[in-house]
Amino acid sequence: MRLFKEANMIQKRTKIRELLRMKPEGQSLTVMGWVRTFRNNQFIALNDGSTNTNLQVVAPLGVFDETLLKRITTSASLKIEGSLVPSSGKGQAMELVATSIEVLGDSDPEKYPLQPKKHSLEFLREIAHLRFRTNTFGSVFRVRHSLAFAIHQFFNERGFVYLHTPVITASDAEGAGEMFRVTTLPFDNPPRNEDGSVNFREDFFGRATNLTVSGQLEGELGATAFGEIYTFGPTFRAENSNTTRHLAEFWMIEPEMAFYDLEDNMNLAESFIKYIIGYAMEHNREDLEFLAQRLQEEEKALPQDKRSEWTLLEKLEFVLKNDFERITYTEAIDILLQSPAYKKKKFQYDVKWGIDMQSEHERYLVEKHFRKPVIVTNYPKEIKAFYMRQDDNGKTVAAMDILAPGIGEIVGGSQREERMDKLTARMREMHIPEEELYWYLDTRRFGTVPHAGFGLGFERMVQFVTGMGNIRDVIPFPRTPKSAEF
Ligand code: ATP
Ligand code: MN
Repeated sequence: MRLFKEANMIQKRTKIRELLRMKPEGQSLTVMGWVRTFRNNQFIALNDGSTNTNLQVVAPLGVFDETLLKRITTSASLKIEGSLVPSSGKGQAMELVATSIEVLGDSDPEKYPLQPKKHSLEFLREIAHLRFRTNTFGSVFRVRHSLAFAIHQFFNERGFVYLHTPVITASDAEGAGEMFRVTTLPFDNPPRNEDGSVNFREDFFGRATNLTVSGQLEGELGATAFGEIYTFGPTFRAENSNTTRHLAEFWMIEPEMAFYDLEDNMNLAESFIKYIIGYAMEHNREDLEFLAQRLQEEEKALPQDKRSEWTLLEKLEFVLKNDFERITYTEAIDILLQSPAYKKKKFQYDVKWGIDMQSEHERYLVEKHFRKPVIVTNYPKEIKAFYMRQDDNGKTVAAMDILAPGIGEIVGGSQREERMDKLTARMREMHIPEEELYWYLDTRRFGTVPHAGFGLGFERMVQFVTGMGNIRDVIPFPRTPKSAEF
């Protein structure tokens, strides 16, 4: 490894983000990074990933020989020593006047796919292995990092235990979606039972297994011992929906809390969302300003009435400062039935009590009617999972979904059914085998308590904060139907 032969290489390096906060007074510094542009055989725009702002490095004319200068091409990696001085040029407050330049790695400009110009997000998706080197993706993934960090901090401050639920599971208890099978059986000739079906007793785990669609049921086991837990891990759904909001592999945060009712659950979810947005606004100001600018540029191509009224930062500010709207499902349906959109037959799907609201309905509520995040509660039991707590009316359950402008459903949660008789009755109605879930039912058998929890789709949250329209652009390596490159 030629690159790391020098001891203390890293200790000598100043990150550009830190450097740009210094007072330029001729101090000698070492920077390392990748060339974004090289102008007039003299000015290098260097980026090291710590910030979107490039450092201007000046290679004084006549100091460096031609063969070295020829190797300073877009994306070549450099180690530069120099002195930091105030800049006389426009566009930057300071610059580094190079005294030594070492090329760590060459980059052939004929072959490097990123040019110093605007590339479409679609094109960048095809070269996702290099897109971190663009301003847009640099900002998106630094914000993603901050949000992940803030999530752990939020729960840690409140005494929640981070519980690692399994990635490989044997149950599709939730029935949340299509699952990916995990097997080591030969698929051309699997062992069979007498009736011809595949004999999974011969499989690796001695039973049929899948990738998890949710860690909730295991989360409830944790909550009924630790009080408050959260999970934060990858989740898999083999749903064949090619939308801008669905991935086959995504990250989900699932807090689960004993001694919480539906209202406690909503309060926690709302403060949680505000906390992590606030954290990113405080720590990623520059990235968010860049993304806000990008969004405005992108929206210039849209007709006036399709553009956002607010900038990205104004939207985030608004979400922080205002209470989320809270309505019941029944109220939501009434609003939709009274809406001009419904009366003018603008909805593609029908509206009546009992429907699973479509994205167009959710968007009407948050974007047209309330113009802010909305928490919808008490959904019909028929469209929700078996474990949600049954309301006294016999029709609805203590569910809550949070809908966000531009995204739709961002959180799905509920108070859980803690009453054994009610829970098993519902399981029987929904043909969910009790024997298989004996371990889950033990929480109700041995010291059951009121409890609640929710799931937040991490990528949808990152979309909301960064303003990125397509979920494929907020996860480093998106997995979607027919696509698992890199
Ligand atoms: P949707 O109706 O949007 O498909 P869902 O009802 O299937 O969502 P839940 O099962 O409640 O969602 O999952 C909890 C959260 O996980 C959702 O609120 C959403 O933020 C996120 N989520 C669900 N499916 C996906 C997916 N395929 N890709 C990314 N995030 C997802
Ligand atoms: Mn879904």
